[in-house]
Amino acid sequence: DFAERLGRDVGEVMKKLLMGGIMATINQELDFDTASLIADEFGVTVTKEAPPEDPTEIEEIIDPPETLKTRPPVVTIMGHVDHGKTSLLDAIRQTNVTSHEAGGITQHIGAYQVRYEGKKITFMDTPGHEAFTAMRARGAQVTDIAVLVVAADDGVMPQTIESINHAKSAGVPIIVAINKIDKESANPEHVMQQLTEYGLISEDWGGDTIMVPVSAHKKIGLDDLLENILVLAEVQDLKANPNRPAQGVVIEAKLDKGRGPVASVLIQKGTLRVGDTIIVGTCFGKVRAMNNERGERVKKAEPSIPVEILGLNDVPEAGDILNVTDEKTARSVAEKRLEKKRSSELHVNAKVTLDDLFNQIQQGELKELPLIIKGDVQGSVEALSQSLMGIKSDEVRIAIVHSGVGAINESDIMLASASNALIIGFNVRPDAAARKMAEHEKVDMRMYRVIYDAINDVEAAIKGMLEKKY
Ligand code: GDP
Repeated sequence: DFAERLGRDVGEVMKKLLMGGIMATINQELDFDTASLIADEFGVTVTKEAPPEDPTEIEEIIDPPETLKTRPPVVTIMGHVDHGKTSLLDAIRQTNVTSHEAGGITQHIGAYQVRYEGKKITFMDTPGHEAFTAMRARGAQVTDIAVLVVAADDGVMPQTIESINHAKSAGVPIIVAINKIDKESANPEHVMQQLTEYGLISEDWGGDTIMVPVSAHKKIGLDDLLENILVLAEVQDLKANPNRPAQGVVIEAKLDKGRGPVASVLIQKGTLRVGDTIIVGTCFGKVRAMNNERGERVKKAEPSIPVEILGLNDVPEAGDILNVTDEKTARSVAEKRLEKKRSSELHVNAKVTLDDLFNQIQQGELKELPLIIKGDVQGSVEALSQSLMGIKSDEVRIAIVHSGVGAINESDIMLASASNALIIGFNVRPDAAARKMAEHEKVDMRMYRVIYDAINDVEAAIKGMLEKKY
């Protein structure tokens, strides 16, 4: 092959190799340096070919701006347990299904669409920041807008704060729904007051956060909420090209006894059609049938539309990306991904660790060090946060993505994984589930009993002077 490309006789090339002290057989592979020396002798300059494309990737399609069309916003409802996330999702769903659509039986496919004033909005059907961040940790972000539900009789609670930080870390704008205003003990103003501490200042008070008082029970304020979601979506100018091979994200998947592997997918770009050949994570197949959230058969699905698809060879995972491609590519890429997954590198990328911090900073890979801080009491969390923020470095900026009181939990690990953060624990430990998840997600956690030690370690790591612990 080499001789051929040089335009020379194989014998001539072998002779040159021999003269250079290399006894090459006809099928022997030459390394680049040898090949380049020999080519030089023939007066030919060789250059390296571009490295082969990653066989586990599907080639990205670039959509020219003129192909982009407005698409519906995708909304996730977050907030503290019992503040009414599920009730709100149900209330919205009941009030905004038009009569001719109401025939079908409601199916849970992980998301649903409502129509309001002629426009569509897609709601993720699994409330909470956990699902949202778990997807993000796997590289998939589907949410455009987070609706933060805060019960007007209960106010800001730990998971309210978690939700705020998870949404902020993802760069997703927040609309606050102050729920349960029908209750006698409701105090919306108090909620607004509390939220200012987390940087959410109501438009009524001169800030830029939309806050809508609602009651999921009495169906108060739902129109106002939907209206505001549409306003924000318009500002965001959400667009996608519907006329291209589809790309989407798996929001749920299961093995159905009668129907085989079933995956709920939110389409992000292009249009998915029955009959399309797809690759989804490590699975592939041909779309045999698609259902919407009312259990009706559909033939196609456009951007921001959730559909349940049948026809895959296996059950994919939530967060897996769907691509339409040809059968040969689907098969071979799925196979390559499976191989890679088996050697377990596909889903878990190496995360930032304190030990490797300096290296990453030096290589310019890390400009910002995200930290999650958990402590036993609010005072120490604040003291630690402030001291850490005070560490001066020209190379790296410290950003605290979340801090809170209590044991390190799974939500912390997911956020760390999604935002590539280090976790610093002060007088707290991870619970068992968190420890296991941290191992799987390769998240670095450091526990301290002395604030000074924590600051010292982070400072030393940034400056490349952390003593290795063996
Ligand atoms: P989630 O855990 O955030 O999904 O909360 P749920 O939707 O399960 O609601 C928790 C509790 O609050 C349930 O008992 C609901 O009936 C109640 N609830 C939800 N929304 C309202 C509301 O608008 N008004 C009143 N009074 N109760 C509500």
